[in-house]
Amino acid sequence: MNRELRKTIIAGNWKMNMLSSEVQAYKDELVKLVPGFKTWCDAVVCVPFVILPAALQAFDSTDVGVGAQNLSQFESGAYTGEVSVAQLTDIGTEYVIIGHSERREYYGETDESVNEKLKATLTSSMCPIVCVGETLQQRETGVTGDLVAMQVKIALNGISAEQMKNVVIAYEPVWAIGTGMTATPEDAQVVCSAIRNVLADLYDKKTADAVSILYGGSMNDKNAQELLAQPDIDGGLIGGASLKPAAFATIINAANQ
Ligand code: PEP
Repeated sequence: MNRELRKTIIAGNWKMNMLSSEVQAYKDELVKLVPGFKTWCDAVVCVPFVILPAALQAFDSTDVGVGAQNLSQFESGAYTGEVSVAQLTDIGTEYVIIGHSERREYYGETDESVNEKLKATLTSSMCPIVCVGETLQQRETGVTGDLVAMQVKIALNGISAEQMKNVVIAYEPVWAIGTGMTATPEDAQVVCSAIRNVLADLYDKKTADAVSILYGGSMNDKNAQELLAQPDIDGGLIGGASLKPAAFATIINAANQ
């Protein structure tokens, strides 16, 4: 983390878990366990679309932001099953995850559709969290750096330095998501730093230094502190551990220290 240059963000990704009726109890427990939210750390829960109203209501009086896990790149129209930027912002959604590896793997999302979704999001006030990361095979082949750089470059194609002030990037090695296998803090730092170098090449150092780059992949209450101690890791995107308020609170508190 580098609080002087950029914001720390701890974002939970509930994936397809939880019910609207469970949100209030989750919020009560979480807020009890986080003694104070500091201005340098944003805590967020990204929830399934149907849970957004309940989550927005439950977290309304707290410092916890609420986000979606996906959105349509299209403005409106005949896109059955999709949810638009306008529909999300209309109810007050503040963040949206774009290009999560599960969306890429199971729903055919590509770097190009990620770019379209990012452009759509940036027409609104929502903060996009753009996910990139390599598979185990890609890591073992030694292409992690090139692959992640390419994902970042395509995702950001046509995005201005001014727009980058509102973009968050999450480095999520696919092999670490939901597997309990975490990248070592050193390995995660290497890739997050490489992403920042790509941003500096695409834009300039000042812009690159201001972008929050999160790590995601089995981050939990035990390993968060070490990961967050790395200079280019500005927070976490957290799946499994964000479902347990106690574990999620420990991670938020680690980021707040
Ligand atoms: C994720 O869903 O983005 C994620 C990192 O999941 P987990 O923390 O469970 O690996």
